[in-house]
Amino acid sequence: MNRKNWMLLVGVSGLVLVLAVILCSAWDTPSVHEGSQGQRYVPKEEVASPGDVMPKEDVQVLTSVVEAELKRRMPLYKEWLMAAAEVADLSGDEEAKQTFYYMATGGMLAAPVEQGFVVIRPSPEPEATVVLVPLIEEDAKILPNLVHHSHAFALYLPEHRSIVLRTNVQATKVWKGIVFLHESAHAMAYGTKPYDHQDVKTFCEKERDVHTFQNRLVEKIGGKRYRVAVAEEIESQKAEAKKLGDVVGHVIYGRQQNYPIMDDIFGPPLSEVEADFRATQVWIHAAFTIIDETFPAEERENRKALFLKVLYAERGMFDPSTGRLR
Ligand SMILES: [Zn+2]
Repeated sequence: MNRKNWMLLVGVSGLVLVLAVILCSAWDTPSVHEGSQGQRYVPKEEVASPGDVMPKEDVQVLTSVVEAELKRRMPLYKEWLMAAAEVADLSGDEEAKQTFYYMATGGMLAAPVEQGFVVIRPSPEPEATVVLVPLIEEDAKILPNLVHHSHAFALYLPEHRSIVLRTNVQATKVWKGIVFLHESAHAMAYGTKPYDHQDVKTFCEKERDVHTFQNRLVEKIGGKRYRVAVAEEIESQKAEAKKLGDVVGHVIYGRQQNYPIMDDIFGPPLSEVEADFRATQVWIHAAFTIIDETFPAEERENRKALFLKVLYAERGMFDPSTGRLR
């Protein structure tokens, strides 16, 4: 099984490891400036293979197993779905509403088994395109690295059309909803129009689109105080550039703090993973805004994707020998 997409992590923590990113304009330009060795979250060789998703028509309805699995996993899945509903509601964002609706109507619930993921509740939608897998402690026997060692909350695996949800990481409802909508946006994009998910450029462009969506959601919910957090990071980035004699706007420096103002806005985070995810949000939002302020309109979107590429390259997500995702 092709494992590379286990690396499609959300909640990219540890970005402080990146000292600075020189913003570049071409896909083949080396772009890491004095970066330290990034850590990969899920070392490829340690990730268990989930096998293939069983097509709907092959699903054996083993009633007792299905009932037991539903009893355990349905409440967990509902928690994520309800969190996404709250975010769609609070933000009033049309794309968030559409994404939520796509998942609520087209999501199939599944459980991991040795051979892959088995669907335990098919979708009423004949065109259902996404499988949702809430992981529980017991799944560590099959997917130990996903259940215990990943720093991610959730991830989308395009080759399985699946979203894996970690239920052993605590997070506040709103941030759970934001994470779920992030992965759901990937699922909806791929489900409605599949693309080459191993192509680095395409991968980075899709991430850019989803982060832009996420920035907008957090801003709508966090309001003025959140904008202050982003503005302060932008100012600090500019001050750093001046101090180091770099061209303002052409270098993004690594995140230096956790932005305590985020706790005032959203309440204290419930885990380190959540704290890190929120801080990364502010940092990426600031970086995107700096790019918007610095470059002509026709260059901005490409530069944002290239900026993300540096972060993913630092994590060893790309295979230099093939130039594609691992
Ligand atoms: Zn993503």
